[in-house]
Amino acid sequence: MKIHIEHLTLRNFRNYSTLELDLPIGIVLIEGSNGQGKSNLLEAIYMMAIAKSPRAKHEDELVNWDLFEELSHVQVAIDINSENIFEHLQLDLQCRTNTRKNLDSQDSSASSIKKNIKINDVQKSPTQLVGHLNAVLFTADDLDLVFGSPSVRRKYIDVLIARIDSQYLTSLQKYQNIVRNRNALLKTIKFDKDRVAELDFWDNNLSTYAGYIIQKRQEVISDLSTIANTIYSELSIEEDSSLFLNYRCTVPISLNDDNQIDGYDIEVLKALKNKHEADIFQTVTSIGPHRDDIHVLLNNVDAGKYSSRGQVRSMILALKMAEAMYLSQIRGTSPVLLLDDMLSELDGIKRRLIFEKISEYTQCIVTTAEIEIVPKDFLQGIQHLRLESGAISLISPDPKT
Ligand code: ATP
Ligand code: MG
Repeated sequence: MKIHIEHLTLRNFRNYSTLELDLPIGIVLIEGSNGQGKSNLLEAIYMMAIAKSPRAKHEDELVNWDLFEELSHVQVAIDINSENIFEHLQLDLQCRTNTRKNLDSQDSSASSIKKNIKINDVQKSPTQLVGHLNAVLFTADDLDLVFGSPSVRRKYIDVLIARIDSQYLTSLQKYQNIVRNRNALLKTIKFDKDRVAELDFWDNNLSTYAGYIIQKRQEVISDLSTIANTIYSELSIEEDSSLFLNYRCTVPISLNDDNQIDGYDIEVLKALKNKHEADIFQTVTSIGPHRDDIHVLLNNVDAGKYSSRGQVRSMILALKMAEAMYLSQIRGTSPVLLLDDMLSELDGIKRRLIFEKISEYTQCIVTTAEIEIVPKDFLQGIQHLRLESGAISLISPDPKT
């Protein structure tokens, strides 16, 4: 099943007053100088996929406060068409005050924004919105998947699995809660050794959820790694270039006599018990999904340590395309690819290979600040738009012909 965005409306969103845009299937290229709002545009679209901004910490940041005189609310609306099904998705941010909240202040209680979501004019919750627009976003921040800390990689895989498995999100929330409780108990035990027996209750609870999380992560990372490796080799001219993702679990998982795993929860429970003394001493739960990592290996070496920025960029692009393919296999709908500033730091050959690859996807929206680096022959046959001062114009196909 194919899904694509037909029409996008932005009102008072970041540096836009109003923007209306029809987006055809295939590749849409949006060029514009720095600060014209390219990333803002893709952020707005992706918000519809995950029901929140991928980059703003506070929703107040999404409001164009300069326009407050005429501002009643902020709106992002998208018409999507998946074969014969049309859906109108709408996300409104109602501003409760007429002043920008001091975002640096410690007061998080007095949010001045209320989020309102509708699908075909029927009120929905953020969770109900997720899944209606299937999209995958690449931005320069994603290079942190390789260069950043383990928490960035854990968050990435958790968000991906949560999009396809609602039980995973619940397990993760319960797990995090149990870890907090177990850590609080460890602090108490350090001074009151009599309470050590209470650890059993938390260990049992924790291992159930941890087992599920570890098993899911193992599965998804392994599937994603296989697809990403195929795509990465298609984007490389070198023979035998490879990309692998390996789940590094802090819980030792041993195999039984039949070469099988008895159960991830059993393994976690065993490992937790072995760690009692150390955990009490450090007053933290030292093993489990909250401490795990994903190793990214490019040509069999640690990408974070040994790869160039260009190599990492094309690797992350391969990973995002793999994510899109993985989601389409599971959901049966092909996601919209949103690729922000994907061409910088890449050589001409790589840029060409990437354009060839993205042509295989149903809809792909690409931005660039440097139109000169786009392979000329790819400009034919795609929609080419220019963003300037919050307004968009059509460059080709020529609107006059
Ligand atoms: P680059 O090529 O540098 O990546 P870009 O076209 O992606 O640039 P964006 O990051 O989308 O640019 O837009 C940044 C612009 O949006 C800045 O000029 C910034 O001032 C403006 N902006 C961001 N948030 C708001 C807001 N809440 N209200 C008004 N303007 C905003
Ligand atoms: Mg940008």
